[in-house]
Formats: sequence, C-alpha cells, structure tokens
Amino acid sequence: APRVFSGIQPSGGLTLGNYLGAIKRFVSMQDEYPCVYCMVDLHAITVWQDPKDLVHNTRELAAGLIASGISPEKSILINQSQVPEHAQLGWVFNCVARMGWMQRMTQFKDKAGKNAQNASLGLFGYPALMAADILIYHATHVPVGEDQKQHLELTRDIAAKFNHDYGVDFFPLTEPVIEGAATRVMSLRDGSKKMSKSDPSDASRINMTDDADSIAKKIRKAKTDPDALPSEIDGLKDRPEARNLVNIYAALNDQTVEDVLAEVGGQQFGTFKPQLAELAVSKLSPISHEMARLMDDPAEIDRILAKGAAQAREITAPILSKTYEIMGMVR
Ligand code: ATP
Ligand code: MG
Repeated sequence: APRVFSGIQPSGGLTLGNYLGAIKRFVSMQDEYPCVYCMVDLHAITVWQDPKDLVHNTRELAAGLIASGISPEKSILINQSQVPEHAQLGWVFNCVARMGWMQRMTQFKDKAGKNAQNASLGLFGYPALMAADILIYHATHVPVGEDQKQHLELTRDIAAKFNHDYGVDFFPLTEPVIEGAATRVMSLRDGSKKMSKSDPSDASRINMTDDADSIAKKIRKAKTDPDALPSEIDGLKDRPEARNLVNIYAALNDQTVEDVLAEVGGQQFGTFKPQLAELAVSKLSPISHEMARLMDDPAEIDRILAKGAAQAREITAPILSKTYEIMGMVR
C-alpha cells in the first residue's frame, strides 16, 4: 500500500528552501496518500544542538508544517525520538549498510568539512537512520529536495540488501519525489551552495519567520550578475544566481520557469527583485503569522506530537517485530 514519509531536522528555523523543496509538496500529497511527517530530532543531534534551541526548533518546525497546511487530522505528525522504532531499525541498518557506501555520501563530506576525523559517528551513519525512518513505515514515496537524492538511493540499496540477505521481499524500494521549479534553492550569497537552515550566514537564506522588511532586504542584497533577465530558459545557463531567483519566483507563484521568463525577460534585477520580494512576502507572511499564533500554545503542539507518536507506533511496532523475527531474534 502506498504511504508517504518525509522528515525535516529541527537544526534551525525553516527556510524558503525547506518550504519550496519539501513542505509545499508535503501539503499536496496529504490528500492523495496516508502521510507521516517527522521532526527528525535524532538527526539534528548529529551536530551539537543547544537543548533549549532543540526544544524550541522542534515545536516551531511542527508549527511551520501546520501553518503551511499540514493537517494533524489527515497526516501523522511526530518527532522522531518519541517513536523509538526509528532508532531501533536504525541500528539494524547500521549492520546492513556498508562503510564504503557511507563514504560516498556527499552530504557527509559537505557537513564534516576538512576535519572529518572530528565529525560524530552519528553524522557518518546518518543515511542508515534515514533509511530506517522511511522503511519503518514501509513508505513508498518520499518528497524531498534534490540534495537528498543520494540518500534515497542508499535507502533503496539498504532495502534491497536486507531483502537479499534474508531471502525475503519485506522492505519496499522507495521512490523519491523530487518535483517542481525549486528542488534545489541556492544560497542568496553564493549560487553554488544550497540554501540551508544551518548556514552560519543569516543573509544566505530567507527564514519562514523573517518579517517583510528583512525578506525585502535579503532579496535586494542577493548576489546577481549585471545582465538583464533573459526571456528564454537557455539564457539562464551559467547564471546560477539569476536562475535561482527565477526558480524561486516560479515555485512561489506555481508557474513554470518558461512562463515567468516570458513575463520578466528583459527586466533588470532592480525591477525584478522588488517584485520577487513582494511575492515572497505575500506567500510567506500568512504562514509566519499562523506559526507565531501556534507558538503561543506550545502545550497544544506537544499534544499533537504525542498523539502522532501513538498513531505512528501502531504502524512501526509490528514492522520492527517482523524485522526482528526475520533476523532470528528471540521474541
Ligand atoms: P541543515 O542545514 O541542518 O541540513 P536543511 O535546510 O538542509 O538543514 P533539512 O532538514 O536537512 O534542511 O532538509 C529538510 C528537507 O528540505 C529535505 O527534504 C531537503 O531536501 C529539503 N531542502 C533543504 N534545503 C533545500 C534547498 N535549499 N532547496 C530545496 N530543498 C531543500
Ligand atoms: Mg540538510
């Protein structure tokens, strides 16, 4: 049976990249499939998190999903650590995945930086836990941004190796769902780097909680080249910053990039940027207002997550038991 799972790390505040690359799709999928959306707190701690920030960010992330249109009545909303089967299956997958597979992961290389010896073991094993997040629900579809494509391929490799090693057809081969005009939103300061909530530079990203003035200011200051916008998509080749702003515009406005260029081709950035800022504010400010309203009642958010965890465990507990049984663990 089809099921959707996706996760977001409470490693900072939500960005426009998270919204366009992931959350907008989460919302549209919930009418079609049973969905589980998860604040992956166990992933966040692969790099140190201040406990006070982690609590706040987890609740704010949940508020962000709800404010964006995810209904806790339709979808299961959880934080990962409250559903222990994620970590339990994660251990099993640590024993299925191979060191060499992990060593190829570009996210680890990016996040560990030059001093990989000093990275946590958890950061290295991250993709195995991510595979467990997905497969503990037998999820078939995973909406994510482009940057997660490699981890999704690894998830399929882990499922296939488990099935092969134990001679079963137990874990499904999950499909990534990477769609839309903004599957990889880039940093506003560097067109070769993706926008990230954990980037030390606040100017590199638009946060879902930014007010209208800071959104306008960040877009005004966004790095661009001096040329006018092209009217054809070919004209964006080798212009990563220009392409990024056009992609953002298209995704926010539910248009294709071609349609946007047909309208704005020939404009200078001095004309285009204020329009983009206005569009971003008009789409994001209703969400950030609703987030702030939900954050006035953190106990209600905690209740939603606790209820989600109970619903989730009805799915995860039997799948974990069956996994253990397949592997020969005495029950
Ligand atoms: P961190 O910097 O801590 O890794 P992040 O901004 O990359 O944070 P994640 O929690 O790692 O956010 O990812 C949550 C979801 O958002 C994933 O589906 C990921 O693919 C998507 N996503 C993250 N950044 C972008 C981006 N710049 N463009 C499109 N999608 C993105
Ligand atoms: Mg990330």
